[in-house]
Amino acid sequence: ATPTAMQHLRADFPILGIRVGDKPLVYLDNAASSQMPQAVIDRLVRYQTTQHANIHRAVHHLSEVATQEYENARRKLQHFMGAREEKEVIFTSGTTDSINLVMHGYGRKFIQSGDEIILTTLEHHSNIVPWQMLAEEKGAHIRVVPINDSGELLVEAYEKLFNSKTRFVGLSHVSNALGTINPIKDMIAIAHQHGVPVLIDGAQAAPHLQVDVQELDCDFYAFSAHKLFGPTGIGVLYGKAHLLEAMQPYKGGGDMIASVTFEKTIYNELPYKFEAGTPPIAAAIGFGAAIDYLNQIGLDNIAAYEHDLLRYATEQIQAMPGVRIIGNSLNKVAVISFVIDGIHPHDVGTLLNQEGIAVRTGHHCAQPIMERFKVPATSRASFAFYNNRDEVDALVAGIRSVQKVFAL
Ligand code: PMP
Repeated sequence: ATPTAMQHLRADFPILGIRVGDKPLVYLDNAASSQMPQAVIDRLVRYQTTQHANIHRAVHHLSEVATQEYENARRKLQHFMGAREEKEVIFTSGTTDSINLVMHGYGRKFIQSGDEIILTTLEHHSNIVPWQMLAEEKGAHIRVVPINDSGELLVEAYEKLFNSKTRFVGLSHVSNALGTINPIKDMIAIAHQHGVPVLIDGAQAAPHLQVDVQELDCDFYAFSAHKLFGPTGIGVLYGKAHLLEAMQPYKGGGDMIASVTFEKTIYNELPYKFEAGTPPIAAAIGFGAAIDYLNQIGLDNIAAYEHDLLRYATEQIQAMPGVRIIGNSLNKVAVISFVIDGIHPHDVGTLLNQEGIAVRTGHHCAQPIMERFKVPATSRASFAFYNNRDEVDALVAGIRSVQKVFAL
């Protein structure tokens, strides 16, 4: 895709036209939450206006329509990820919920005292804390894959962590704090040589890269709609059918059962076993609409455009005196985490906001990475396909004016 090829798509996102004070919005916080195109907003309105009812429980017209649309959304997710079967696609409330589902459903059943779980330095807290809770409960241990100064995982060190006690690997596809794309296919193959299943946290990968769970051969893959141009409150867990079948449900309640007596409950079949209660039906259908929208553009086109934008932004920011990019791997999605000499990231974020520029500042729910690079926090600009070079220029000018304020 040429640098301008995506620019007509900006008009699909009404929120990008707002002003912050007297400045046009420059939205560079896409790794936290991206924005919804009008097509997704319209789909939510259409559902609420003409299709809403509870699903799976009634024979009346509206319930059948809502059920059909909800299940259509599941099929869209199935094809988007390349899952073999629909029943391998579980709707959750987001990546965090998906990981907790695996921790409770798989971890609590199959991980015992003395067992080991491998995680990496690049994990978001949501792929650390659930496993720590499990380790504490079971007396299991967490082993951590180190990174180099560019923010890349050390695969040889990873390989050496395996032993006869290793039972599980939790691994991010893309780092949210640095943008590094991890060599997950090789890392999954290594785990499988040791007979160990792998969960991939795909929250930051799905918006930028084509994901094929069968090609990756991952055992679980999780991501959230709100980072993928869809609504909040909905996400997905892919799991290999035989693993999901073997797992215990995480939440009990309506819809996840086949039959209930006070003596015994028989659980429903997949995927319903893991979808207790009324799900966020509208959000799931909106998620499906976001997938349709992305498919029209094509993730390969998105990746090519963003790669170009990242290179442009990296060149500009790297050339600025007093600015340091943290995690400068060549293999990255369009995320730039940076620190400015002598200025706290919180001040950077506050001053950039005065220019209408939205970046995230802080530890990005990835404190081990901050510790590794010996910084308390960074400023993070994260791009989507609707961002452009003018916005990179605005960021660069914004950083310059921040430096000027502090030079006074
Ligand atoms: N993992 C990664 C890599 C993330 O970036 C995020 C969101 N910042 C999460 C997990 C958690 O996602 P959610 O808040 O949607 O559950």
